[in-house]
Amino acid sequence: MAKEYLNYIAGEWVPADSGEWFENRNPAHWDELVGLFPKSGTAEVDRAVAAAKEAWKTWRLVPAPERGAILKTAGDIMVERKEEIATLMTREMGKVLTETRGDTQEGIDTFYYAAVEGRRLFSHTAPSEMRNKMNMSFRIPIGVAGLITPWNFPMAIPCWKSLPALVCGNTVVFKPASDTPATATVLVEILLEAGIPPGVINIVHGGGGVVGNRIVNHPDVSLISFTGSSEIGKQINSLAGADLKRVSLELGGKNAQIVMDDADLDLALEGVLWGAFGTTGQRCTATSRLILHEKIHDKFVKMLVKAADKLVVGDGLDEKNKVGPCINEGQRNIVDEYVQIGKAEGAKLRCGGEPSTEGKNSEGWFYKPTVFTGVTPKMRIFKEEIFGPVLSVIKVKDFDDAVKVHNDCLYGLSSSIYTRDVNNSFRAIRDLEAGITYVNGPTIGAECHMPFGGVKQTGNGHREGGWPVYEFYSEIKTVYVDYSGQLQRAQIDNY
Ligand code: NAP
Repeated sequence: MAKEYLNYIAGEWVPADSGEWFENRNPAHWDELVGLFPKSGTAEVDRAVAAAKEAWKTWRLVPAPERGAILKTAGDIMVERKEEIATLMTREMGKVLTETRGDTQEGIDTFYYAAVEGRRLFSHTAPSEMRNKMNMSFRIPIGVAGLITPWNFPMAIPCWKSLPALVCGNTVVFKPASDTPATATVLVEILLEAGIPPGVINIVHGGGGVVGNRIVNHPDVSLISFTGSSEIGKQINSLAGADLKRVSLELGGKNAQIVMDDADLDLALEGVLWGAFGTTGQRCTATSRLILHEKIHDKFVKMLVKAADKLVVGDGLDEKNKVGPCINEGQRNIVDEYVQIGKAEGAKLRCGGEPSTEGKNSEGWFYKPTVFTGVTPKMRIFKEEIFGPVLSVIKVKDFDDAVKVHNDCLYGLSSSIYTRDVNNSFRAIRDLEAGITYVNGPTIGAECHMPFGGVKQTGNGHREGGWPVYEFYSEIKTVYVDYSGQLQRAQIDNY
């Protein structure tokens, strides 16, 4: 009998009102049921929001260092549970254990960063233009935060959102992706064990179109933080914008690694294998375009195809495997459709290009690491996010051409250049249209204390991680204290 997980609403673990459940299955062995989850509706969201609104009245008054201390305790609990969480995460979404341990560690790092931020939450003081008057600003909580997350980073992304939200004094209604509700539930368990009061955190499981939609349009939810596809992000932006809610959107990517003719090719190869095929290419920062200088193109492609072909695909719980499954059958079908599109567009398939079904892999949604060469900027496989282990290689004649090809893209999340030329490194930092640029590193590898996010259609200008995210989750209150004992009219009495 599979474990029945519950919603956590208003301080209680509860099933869906309907009594219905949805299944969470292992993408490496589809016959393995990881758990059953409440198929909730809008009424459950309404109760969660009401509880969060009520809890906000007291949570907002808890000193931020005290809120931070609870998160420190929660981080310690997560350290104890790291291995268990990593194993559960691999079972529910497939990525290999090394990566699910990393995902959990990113959660832990975010806990400790947020805990200390409870003692900072800096704002400004500034001189007054009047005598005997003091000007300052404070960061204040906003209210109920609605958090909606994707499945590819089941612990890190919910931590990126919920921990700054909480330390800033907001309360939370959280809807995780339907593909990864188990890891999300563990996060809530840990927060509660550490001492987050009832009502301050609520988790409601269920479909995006119902539960997610209600969170976005609920009048008492003051801010929305969403990570997911550009398509849904645009819908959320319109809906939340109609009520002037504060909205943070982290959306799709089509990230590129550039390899110049002076690069360390072995290093660049390691980078692209990790960037393109880590998490089976299902990272928002995955390398899905490889831009090669013409002088090293043929040599590098040979090295790449040989190495990609050798990557062992299989169940992420077996540590010899390097590439896990796609998240579900639908996603594997999308990957395969793009491979057919690439072939029809005239790109040259160099390896992979089909599901991996040998032996036990027939039980899951595995796809072979795939490399296309001869790709041009007009092709759909160059332009559209595939979210799978498919790499499109483009040949360029020089640095300027590489930058032009790189920037010929709707998205702008992460970028990378491998070169030993210091001038080209700095020109790339300046000219690549992306929220993140790596020099001599792959497109993936975010650290929790640095801002994370993209330009163009990757988002709406907000950042997760680092210090800017604390600005998103708080308002600025400006305060003037006049101790002159008389009416002082700014701009009038002093001029
Ligand atoms: P998705 O289909 O957009 O779903 C994301 C979340 O939104 C899920 O929790 C989903 O619920 C929910 N949702 C779906 N429809 C909704 C609606 N109408 N209203 C409110 N919520 C709704 O994306 P995904 O497939 O999970 O994730 C992959 C995408 O995320 C890729 O495009 C990737 O690039 C992007 N991503 C971006 C970043 C970044 O930081 N830029 C990071 C990671 C992923 P259900 O699961 O129940 O459908």
